Amino acid sequence: MNDQPLPDRAPEEPAPESTVRPPVRCRLCGRPLTGRASRRTGLGPACDAKLHPDRPDIRPRRHDVEQEPLF
Ligand SMILES: [Zn+2]
Repeated sequence: MNDQPLPDRAPEEPAPESTVRPPVRCRLCGRPLTGRASRRTGLGPACDAKLHPDRPDIRPRRHDVEQEPLF
């Protein structure tokens, strides 16, 4: 049962040059960025967190590590 007809056109058509965008790479580590936000900032999520550990728009949340154990 191997008589499947081949498609007329190639499975992978080359995209027109106008739609091809150069891959955006992280300016810190050089890894290709896939996320929209990462491409906008030019940083990967990990490097972005490294450069901006404390964002001013994020409310400081205290960790409850200083709480005494309840048991
Ligand atoms: Zn990076």
